[in-house]
Amino acid sequence: MPRGGATNLTAMLFESRIASVLLPQPLPEPFDYLASDDMEIEPGAFVVAPLGPRQMIGVVWEVKAGPPDRPLKSLIARLETAPVMPEATRTFIERTARYICAPMGHVLAMAMRSREALEESPVERLYRASGVVPERLTPAREKVLAAAAGEALTAADLARAAGVSAAVVKGLVDAGALSAEDRDVDAPFPEPDPDLPAKDLTPDQVAAAEMLAAAVRERAYRPILLDGVTGSGKTEVYFEAIAAALKDDPTAQVLVLLPEIALTQAVMTRFEERFGCAPAEWHSAIGLKARRRTWREVAHGRARIVAGARSALFLPFRNLRLIIVDEEHDSSYKQEEGVIYQARDLAVMRAHIGGACIVLASATPSLETLANALHGRYERVRLTARPGAARLPEVLIADMKARPPERDRWIAPMLLEAMTETLAAGEQSLLYLNRRGYAPLVLCKACGEKLKAPDTDSWLTEHRYTGMLVCHLTGFTMKKPKVCPNCGVPGALAGVGPGVERLSEEARMHFPRARIEVFSSDTAQSAEALRDLVGRMERGDIDILIGTQIAAKGHNFPRLTLVGAVDADAGLKGGDMRAGERTFQLLSQVAGRAGRADRPGRAIIQTYAPDSPAVAMLAAGDRDGFMELEMANREQLGLPPFGRLGAVILSGSTSEQAEEWAHHFAAAQPDARGVEVWGPAPAPIAVLRGRHRRRFLAQSNRGVDLSAFLSAWKARVKTPPSVRVTLDVEPYSFM
Ligand code: ADP
Repeated sequence: MPRGGATNLTAMLFESRIASVLLPQPLPEPFDYLASDDMEIEPGAFVVAPLGPRQMIGVVWEVKAGPPDRPLKSLIARLETAPVMPEATRTFIERTARYICAPMGHVLAMAMRSREALEESPVERLYRASGVVPERLTPAREKVLAAAAGEALTAADLARAAGVSAAVVKGLVDAGALSAEDRDVDAPFPEPDPDLPAKDLTPDQVAAAEMLAAAVRERAYRPILLDGVTGSGKTEVYFEAIAAALKDDPTAQVLVLLPEIALTQAVMTRFEERFGCAPAEWHSAIGLKARRRTWREVAHGRARIVAGARSALFLPFRNLRLIIVDEEHDSSYKQEEGVIYQARDLAVMRAHIGGACIVLASATPSLETLANALHGRYERVRLTARPGAARLPEVLIADMKARPPERDRWIAPMLLEAMTETLAAGEQSLLYLNRRGYAPLVLCKACGEKLKAPDTDSWLTEHRYTGMLVCHLTGFTMKKPKVCPNCGVPGALAGVGPGVERLSEEARMHFPRARIEVFSSDTAQSAEALRDLVGRMERGDIDILIGTQIAAKGHNFPRLTLVGAVDADAGLKGGDMRAGERTFQLLSQVAGRAGRADRPGRAIIQTYAPDSPAVAMLAAGDRDGFMELEMANREQLGLPPFGRLGAVILSGSTSEQAEEWAHHFAAAQPDARGVEVWGPAPAPIAVLRGRHRRRFLAQSNRGVDLSAFLSAWKARVKTPPSVRVTLDVEPYSFM
């Protein structure tokens, strides 16, 4: 409870309601305030409360009977225009905070991302010609009246359309020649129509769609894994589950989580085709106005389908009946910055709280989800074939030891031959290399120095298009120096290893007449640039596309028949426990781009380790065998999903400070049965943005509440503000 300031004594004596209010600040719990008699309050109400010298909007968490046992400040107002935050959202915030070891107020802040959304939509005044002809009809006035003959426009837009000053428009309004109408700036979203025709589904797809639809109609928590090979029609099938939810309940809301949604506009078009309108969107690229509109429409229950990034989980849905997590294995569901959470796991929790159906869709489900399906905690529907004549691509291994590329080249003869054939057939190739830029390392040939970012333990990547060296962890950028910063020798700095830019140079050398493009977050920086590139690839205006992960996700390129994974081993090196799984998933996903419609495709996997399980079993098409092997390994080691992991990451402004506090932490570790702790150890990225990092890793069996353990541990050590402690429940990054 905040101290000091004026306390309303009268209120204390005569009134007896206390509101516990959660504020969107890194605070662990709600604060108590007095609510005056004339203020209507209930749990979920948005209110304005004093906090120190400031006023802040928060959410009533609980209403208690008074009188209070200590002086309390009074609430300032209730926001009448804001709909009450639903109980399911509040429960979700509470459980999320507990699970991910974050202050509850911090999680609330994620659910209140648009301050303006709490008010009603601003209104704008529009004008159209009223039919009244003004007495004085100048040419300027005539132009305005012509512009106002159609759709109603704002005064500013009318003036702009007619090329006249605002005074002319005002004159016409005064003369009664323009009539005014008011409209909400944030228009409601159009109502999706579930009865528009779906594609003609195959019998397998029909069976899957019916199973999902029946689950949706049950109006209960039903977690289902939709396990279908790439291109088998998972999207078409879950569209039918969405249609079922909309038809079954006129107030039902549906949330579709998509990885990298800002990049995958193609799927929005598919929504439009199926439901007659695009869904409401929620992701970092939508802008303030769209954010305000989506939040408000969701809160009022008027946005029926929301397609969003992971943070859309925190929208205040009134009646969330179905959640789809597309590509549920995708690592971008784990948020690593700020509040750390795994959106797929929280989505399941959200569905459980709201009694909703949740569909986890993937061609290569995460081991966690597969284990849940195998143990009967989730149901599973499978789609094992592509519809019609489309077949899965053939996966071939290019053994880089047996037939290596030339020196300082990265495309092996086998892939080159296949590219030549593909080009001759008028078809497209995709070379996949998950490394942006020209070279992942810059080395001085004179002294051996490897160039590092000044404030971070990571090598700088050379970007030749821009002539810059870039730290991919922090975004730090500098011009490539002419002399080695270590030994001063000029012209000795050389890029080592390939990035997509260098690969395109090599492809150009082999295929000088081919149309070659690079597809990475550097070449597709804006939504337009991305759409343009994808459009040209879809139309067949590109012969060879050289791309990072963003080329591997979600696109349908009908003429793409060859995929080459240039460095399939990249993800296996220095790997954490998910390295094999992730490699398998990424390679299957990228291979799955090849051969849609009626053109058979093939994928060539370049590897120095053809016998590694991830590569060998991918080529054999044995996903289940691979996952069984991984599962057996994890089970033996007690790793997730068979055990729990939690990380403590501590950082200080100097190495000594980090070391000192790591030791305090080690000494304060709670004595808990069934929990084993390793560390402290310097983090693999020991310095990040100038901060020196140490890590602990805690492991327990599934029965232990590891979140409670980590929170209790952290609470025992009072660190100074210059020391930061981050808790990561079920870590994906071990860096
Ligand atoms: P997935 O999500 O499993 O990768 P999609 O739903 O994206 O598969 O389907 C792959 C492609 O095949 C899409 O272009 C889709 O429209 C098309 N498709 C899937 N099922 C059918 C069907 N029954 N009839 C016609 N086209 C289909």
